[in-house]
Amino acid sequence: MTQEQLKQLDLAHIWHPCTQMSDHEKNIPLLPIKRAQGIYVYDFNNQAYMDCISSWWVNLFGHCHPYINQKLKEQIDTLEHIILAGFSHEPIIRLSSRLTSLLDSKLTKCFYAENGSSAIEIALKMAFHAQKLKGKVKNKFLCLQNAYHGETIGALSVGDVGIYTQTYEPLLLEALKIKMPKGEEYTQSLEQLREILQNHAQEIVAFILEPLIQCAGNMNMYSPNFVREAVKICQEFGVFVIFDEIAVGFGRTGSLFAYEQCGVVPDFLCLSKGISGGYLPLSCVITSDEVYQLFYAPYEEHKAFLHSHSYNGNPLACACANAVLDIFEQENIIEKNKLLSAYIWGRFCELGEFKCVANLRHCGMVFALDLVGFEGQRKGLEVFNLALKKGLLLRPLGNTIYLMPPYIITQSEVDYIIDCLKVIFGKF
Ligand SMILES: *Cc1c(COP(=O)(O)O)cnc(C)c1O
Repeated sequence: MTQEQLKQLDLAHIWHPCTQMSDHEKNIPLLPIKRAQGIYVYDFNNQAYMDCISSWWVNLFGHCHPYINQKLKEQIDTLEHIILAGFSHEPIIRLSSRLTSLLDSKLTKCFYAENGSSAIEIALKMAFHAQKLKGKVKNKFLCLQNAYHGETIGALSVGDVGIYTQTYEPLLLEALKIKMPKGEEYTQSLEQLREILQNHAQEIVAFILEPLIQCAGNMNMYSPNFVREAVKICQEFGVFVIFDEIAVGFGRTGSLFAYEQCGVVPDFLCLSKGISGGYLPLSCVITSDEVYQLFYAPYEEHKAFLHSHSYNGNPLACACANAVLDIFEQENIIEKNKLLSAYIWGRFCELGEFKCVANLRHCGMVFALDLVGFEGQRKGLEVFNLALKKGLLLRPLGNTIYLMPPYIITQSEVDYIIDCLKVIFGKF
């Protein structure tokens, strides 16, 4: 089939995520992709596009990575899936012991699911249940303004990105929102957190936040000092802390996990996205032995955490996740990324010369800027379409343009991206 035929057949039957489908009539070309290699994806006309956003932030080491492919092929001929209730398998056992050995010694127990939102649901339910088992009847959560934690009902409840939450407001759980921290501006956020806890700590189960970057919240970056101080306040008041590292985990912020830069450890850590290198759906909530022991009791006491998903801890996904950890170890990725990040940032800053560009910012392997002076205009969409013509796959968040490239991007590829963006911004 041709590119055009595929497109028509797609639009006849597929309702795409995060999309006003009418946009595909003229605003946004729907692009069927045939194959991918490294940082490039190719359409059915063999046109290449450089993946500047790691395919929705999941792809860490490029597409069709030879080593991950090999490990996946080995696993698929060995064991494709096994029910995880009552049964186990080697890839998940290896993965869990490796993850916990990479994390703070407090985080010892891994609970698996298939996507980020499910991990958030698990963390919220587990935290609520743990409080209940401690004899505390609490039913509210704390989150940050501008937060995004996924789009199932529970996850939406602790989110604050209006385009996703507003319509469903009547269905959501109760959550209290703390003023958004921004850069080093966080004093008021801490004051508000303390005030809310002084008045409501007895009702609050947990505080959930993305350490260092609110990614879907237009790449809002904030100080590790905020995270550290906020966690200390929560601990003072007996409120659990949930870190959503679904987007920021696995090296994105410069350290393997973002919490390492904050000097505090959460009660629940949610991982997904990069965990399998962008190959297969997998997520994990990691918690402490202290929490685990609250649930550990004779069956008759009805304390078990009965949450489950059919594909919990799928062996193929776990094999990819183990391959990803191998690459981090063997290729010293965290150290290498420091140089790469510095190079990208140096070039990215050149975009500051344009009048329409403001708030250049970066953290590890995330680089962002805002296009200003276009209130009410979909300028980001224009950038998307112009970049696509130049063979770049960007996906702006509103009028925030960002790069979140796979870690294998080269300096000359970075140069190409920056040169293209200069041509594009020069037209505005
Ligand atoms: C993507 C994301 C989620 C949701 O993960 P899905 O796999 O899309 O359900 C949750 N939290 C953060 C911070 C995310 O970036």
